[in-house]
Amino acid sequence: MEKKAFVTKGQIEEIVKDYPTPFHIYDEKGIRENAKALKEAFAWNPGYKEFFAVKATPNPRLIGILREYGCGTDCSSLTELMLSKAMGIPGTDVMFSSNDTPMEEYVYAAKMGATINLDDITHIDFLEKAIGSLPKTMSCRYNPGGYFSISNHIMDNPGDAKYGFTTEQLFEGFRILKSKGVEHFGLHAFLASNTVTNDYYPMLAKTLFEVAVRLKEETGAHISFINLSGGVGIPYRPDQEPNDIQKIGEGVRKVYEEVLVPAGMGDVAIYTELGRYMLAPYGHLVTKVIHEKHTYKEYLGVDACAVNLMRPAMYGAYHHITVLGKEDAPCDHKYDVTGSLCENNDKFAIDRMLPKVEVGDYIVIHDTGAHGHSMGYNYNGKLRSAELLLKEDGGVELIRRAETPADYFATLDCLDVYHNLDL
Ligand SMILES: *Cc1c(COP(=O)(O)O)cnc(C)c1O
Repeated sequence: MEKKAFVTKGQIEEIVKDYPTPFHIYDEKGIRENAKALKEAFAWNPGYKEFFAVKATPNPRLIGILREYGCGTDCSSLTELMLSKAMGIPGTDVMFSSNDTPMEEYVYAAKMGATINLDDITHIDFLEKAIGSLPKTMSCRYNPGGYFSISNHIMDNPGDAKYGFTTEQLFEGFRILKSKGVEHFGLHAFLASNTVTNDYYPMLAKTLFEVAVRLKEETGAHISFINLSGGVGIPYRPDQEPNDIQKIGEGVRKVYEEVLVPAGMGDVAIYTELGRYMLAPYGHLVTKVIHEKHTYKEYLGVDACAVNLMRPAMYGAYHHITVLGKEDAPCDHKYDVTGSLCENNDKFAIDRMLPKVEVGDYIVIHDTGAHGHSMGYNYNGKLRSAELLLKEDGGVELIRRAETPADYFATLDCLDVYHNLDL
């Protein structure tokens, strides 16, 4: 599928008058249409709920838009819980799917009434020590081990992942929780990341539904929800076929009717914790070309760097690039597109074919709406960029300001920065 930017050169030239590059900009219209389609795809399940994975894009303005479509939040740290609470999200709409969890985070989650999704059997005792008696509703994260394959293609390797209960532990865990007064159970698993196939959720659902039936039969636990977690991906590459959420929803429905309904479990709510799928395509990192360098290779130096988008440097991930104003020009030049970190992996693209680029051109790096700004960091003293919202009416709203040097120095209480630098 051809990848098109949702902003034009003309729009960016206007926006940079108020907000200098680099920045992430999000497309409200795209976010709304996608959230609506997800809701419709699972409307067959009366209890369905998406808990947006906050870590993907922890911006309250964007989460507020998702709330309009019934989304709650999925948190895995204290500050993500605090963000949800600060937004006024009730605990019933908050899932706490953490791992290696510090005690105070369990205490906070329990206090706000979030649903706690345990990552390990030893956390039952740990949680009890932290909060006293257990909540009436508890969830457990399942890791079936081995490889997770779809039609002979290995999707991921859960057996090598740090998350979740083994099958044996799951049954034992449910029995222990039940003996400690838990009345409603949830089951969760995240077995493959960024899947670009309509079969992932239905396959995962089948695995979870079958275990759920056995858990009910063997432990007598009442399973009230099954959480398919995240992992539905997006086509980062133009040659990838996007997922069809309608088909995915139907696929899950089919398995639900085959496995859960005959077992008398037709009241189970389906939950999801999508992050990437909800927002990634609706974010762009906009950056300006500030240098051209001709050495052993051709380099374009831009004013963003890996602190603004870590995925290419960290995972070698592909992010599509559009040179604004040159959308229709032939891609007949080969470039490495680099940031300014003193790290040779600070490249947004390697050997990428692009139109001939000039200093001053604006570049859009696609699919940065999730796991983009949120993975930002301050290496080399770089500052995190602003986040902007391109509204449906075409207006632009600043939804997170850019960091300033004062933010960078804010934790150095020993340094009289304000006095010495006159900030
Ligand atoms: C990261 C994460 C998600 C979201 O994953 P995506 O790939 O963004 O959909 C959901 N649940 C848990 C527990 C996670 O760690």
